[in-house]
Amino acid sequence: MIERIERSPSGRAKCKRCRKTIEKGEIRVQYMWRLLGGVDSPGYLHLACAVDEDVAAVEKALRTFGEAFDGRAAIEATVEARIKAIAERKKPVSERDPALLAVEPVRDASGRPTVRVFLAGSAFSLGNGPTFDLDRVAKTKVWSSPKREYRFVLQYSGDADPTEDPAQPTIGAIFAPYADSKVMPNQKQKIIAWHKQGLPTPVLWLFARGTALVPTDAQVQQWRSLLDSVGYSGDEAHVVYARSVDEAALDALVQALDEALSGGVVPTEDGRPEDVAMAARIEEHLEHERFDAANDLLANGALALRKASKDGVVPAFEQRMCHLSRVSSEGRAAFGRAAVRALAFDACIQQALWVLEQTPGADATSAIVGAIARFVGDPKRRLTKAFDALATFAHKRAVAGRGAPVLDALAKAPTESRAIALGEALATLKDDEADRAFVAWVESLHDRDHRRQWLDEARAKAARRVRDRAKR
Ligand SMILES: [Zn+2]
Repeated sequence: MIERIERSPSGRAKCKRCRKTIEKGEIRVQYMWRLLGGVDSPGYLHLACAVDEDVAAVEKALRTFGEAFDGRAAIEATVEARIKAIAERKKPVSERDPALLAVEPVRDASGRPTVRVFLAGSAFSLGNGPTFDLDRVAKTKVWSSPKREYRFVLQYSGDADPTEDPAQPTIGAIFAPYADSKVMPNQKQKIIAWHKQGLPTPVLWLFARGTALVPTDAQVQQWRSLLDSVGYSGDEAHVVYARSVDEAALDALVQALDEALSGGVVPTEDGRPEDVAMAARIEEHLEHERFDAANDLLANGALALRKASKDGVVPAFEQRMCHLSRVSSEGRAAFGRAAVRALAFDACIQQALWVLEQTPGADATSAIVGAIARFVGDPKRRLTKAFDALATFAHKRAVAGRGAPVLDALAKAPTESRAIALGEALATLKDDEADRAFVAWVESLHDRDHRRQWLDEARAKAARRVRDRAKR
């Protein structure tokens, strides 16, 4: 919560986010953090740091702060792009515009990207045995590794899902229960939500209490089985033990996070490089109908494929967005295969096409014709933006037989509006063979057949397309 924006009257205050001094005369933000139990913790932030902390609050506060200052235009541009990206991220995956999502990532003072990590589990719930006040630790401390700066987002049961900010993406999760407690249904719900979101296997941060120094094997096994039951691999979970939150515990946690979230094309435990493994995860998500998670990875793959240089290197900025540092030709082929499979699911069509645009070698013909047939075959289905994208792609790729399902559907079209929509679909598909057959069919209809009136305009346009092609 922003209390006010002002010019710093002295050079004494330190920024609570970057820890650097706020110079005299610099614009600063007085901010109030709400901690667990209703305690407020006040402090100052550089304006640019406040944008990273709470962009929506800065946008609102700037509207009533009329003063001109150096860099105001740049800050306002950043705020605007960030707000747009956040709004885009809230849309259903198939409607997101990747150009709006690609904002400059938040970085710490040493240039490391800032990422967010979810944190849940009984070990930081007040009123649940001894507490380590993880709430305060997570909100007031920054945990950095040589690779990134971690910002923790505490997830209490019943909390609304936090707003996703593409400038500081959520890339993992930590599950921190007391080792000796029982699995609670709300804990399982949380982990199911993480899994649905496509986050990697959470780091298990197990707290021992009482006289136990470390958790027993049976206790570790219990939490691993919980991950298994949700669809994660419990064996892959990095397990870190702690008795209290001290420096050593935090160091161990950060190291485990770095290991769990290592980016780049590095061999995975089963020996596959990471790009191939990511493509395989897409197919796995599809198989279990986890479409949001599959779409996120398809979008990652499309971005990496588009941005990769000739030798497969993904530029640093895009690496942060797509979590891949290289794409091999093997990886490209694997993404193409996953995208072909994704075409079988309406929720994934848009993302699958993004990947297929980058994988001309993938054999998508029958999957594309099949997807077109699904849309046009059911007269009650609207021909949505996803269908338009599909039809445009089919034309660009010159997919053989792309117009055939539309011809079939036209013969059965029950209403005038459906017939007209299908006629427009033919115009987008630009399939010469289908156009010719369509013109001949309409002309063969009886004069009193009402479809002849419905389709006369579409017929005329198709006839013109056929003529124009013949001229060329
Ligand atoms: Zn700062």
